Amino acid sequence: MPELPEVETVRRGLIPAMEGQVISNAAVNRPDLRWPFPENMAERLTGKRINALRRRSKYILMDLDSGETLLVHLGMSGRMTISGVAVGEFHHPHPTPEKHDHVVFDMENGARVTFNDARRFGAMDLLDTATAEDHWLLRDIGPEPFSNAFNESYLIDRFRGKNSPIKTALLDQGIVAGLGNIYVCEVLFRTGINPKRKAGQISAQRIATLVPAIREVLAEAIESGGSSLKDHRQADGKLGYFQHNFRVYDREGQPCQTGDAGHVIQRFVQSGRSTFYCPQCQR
Ligand SMILES: [Zn+2]
Repeated sequence: MPELPEVETVRRGLIPAMEGQVISNAAVNRPDLRWPFPENMAERLTGKRINALRRRSKYILMDLDSGETLLVHLGMSGRMTISGVAVGEFHHPHPTPEKHDHVVFDMENGARVTFNDARRFGAMDLLDTATAEDHWLLRDIGPEPFSNAFNESYLIDRFRGKNSPIKTALLDQGIVAGLGNIYVCEVLFRTGINPKRKAGQISAQRIATLVPAIREVLAEAIESGGSSLKDHRQADGKLGYFQHNFRVYDREGQPCQTGDAGHVIQRFVQSGRSTFYCPQCQR
């Protein structure tokens, strides 16, 4: 499941091919993904210029010169493939169409962007740009982690009196946008907070440390996604997934990276998701 850094990497990868460019043809090859596509989607995209390519949480938003915005969600397995233009140092010829190529954008500059989604948990919708933030998928999302609205006093305020574990509270998209399971595990390790601790019972000083830790973990992942755009792993033009080294995520049974004797990463299930942590480092 792509998280915020993966979606941001896809957005940055799409910019050279799509931003400021006209969609000369949009092909929509099936009626739906997770939900039905909007009516006449191909006609509403064809001939329109993409003025801006934005991101809100895990959604990519393409503002068109028609006054509409195309919302794209990659779901579980969705990926974008660019062909016909250079991505990093590589030039990709158009690939043979594949079975799950559901939406294909041919751009006036010769680029082709193919949205492939085998499991079809992805989504696309068209909304009025002026009221895009009111869309049902976007309206309840909390502040972006890199925005000024997300700060120490905001987080202390939101966690006051909260009985849910800190892990669950950080996954709540209404509190902060775009944080998923992997990065929450990493953030809690860096701040030394036990994932089971109740959010409302953590001191203000410790909550305050979460804000820079969240930004640091996400920024590092975005950075590593950015370098993946340039190196051989992206030589096939596919955007969205990259190698990244985690300190606790998926490291059950391995020694803690502090190197301290007897520290072993543990895994347990918390609201249906695997949590990885070091019981000695995280209190
Ligand atoms: Zn440890």
